[in-house]
Amino acid sequence: MAARLLEGRPVADAIWQDVASGAERFGQVAGRRPTLALVGGADEAAAAYARQIERQFSRRGLAVSHATIGADDFPHHLQRLSADPAIDGILLLTPLPSGVSAEAAAQVIDPAKDVDGQHPTNLGRIAQRRAAFAPATALGGVRLLKHYDVALSGTRIVVVGRSPVVGMPLALLLIDSDATVTTCHSRTRDMAAITREADVLCVAIGRAGLITPEHVKPGAIVLDFGTNPTPDGALVGDVQTQAVMDVAGGITPVPGGTGPTTVAVLAEQTLRAANLQRGN
Ligand code: NAP
Repeated sequence: MAARLLEGRPVADAIWQDVASGAERFGQVAGRRPTLALVGGADEAAAAYARQIERQFSRRGLAVSHATIGADDFPHHLQRLSADPAIDGILLLTPLPSGVSAEAAAQVIDPAKDVDGQHPTNLGRIAQRRAAFAPATALGGVRLLKHYDVALSGTRIVVVGRSPVVGMPLALLLIDSDATVTTCHSRTRDMAAITREADVLCVAIGRAGLITPEHVKPGAIVLDFGTNPTPDGALVGDVQTQAVMDVAGGITPVPGGTGPTTVAVLAEQTLRAANLQRGN
């Protein structure tokens, strides 16, 4: 039987609906829109992502400011944004200007405005199971599982990938949801034997089609975070979607699966930061 397609759009729409009404309430109290500052983004892909964020935010009553800053002024600019009461969230867009370390830049952001969970304080707080801003893609994956009523408590989950942007925070968020989580990475031996034990398999590797039917337990739910461009300009995931559909119980498509939730969660966290900073 073919797996159910777990589309991201309905998940994102539900988040956007709450964000739009929350942004309206914020505007009535604060007299301005919840505002996200975008910083960096030195190539066309980043510029396209920035336009996408701006378009989606403005349709739901949030605002975006975007500055292209040189390497010399970069840390000072982040300090100014962190101190600016009219800015609620800050998002670093990669690539950063040449000579600026992403790790160092993330540490200059006020953790209270770090709405994409890039500051180590936020990742540390997630590990401590305390309130934090999580990376939007990772949190979007959890929201997608919850939207489709996938059981997490007591469930055996395998996350493939351990980056600080997707795999690691996702594993921590799933542990916080009471799942039993195993993480695989490039040094994992006999990965298929481990992934085949998963009731839920989450994949964030960045290697087109690496996950095949032999990695998947029959009936498992598969979340594919991979976005790998093909030579003809299309996007494919880390999972061989068509082949895995014959084994899995549910699977996210690429594109249209985990992707659409990311910007919606970013907006949700910008609104949350705005409210927290006003003491709402
Ligand atoms: P990354 O920083 O390159 O991390 C990749 C992870 O995969 C690493 O932990 C690496 O292991 C592991 N890995 C690499 N090759 C492997 C293999 N053969 N077997 C098992 N594990 C392997 O990538 P990322 O930023 O996490 O992104 C992963 C994917 O998600 C990319 O396709 C990216 O475009 C996509 N992404 C999607 C969204 C979205 O909105 N949907 C957002 C962000 C990223 P080691 O740690 O051992 O090196």
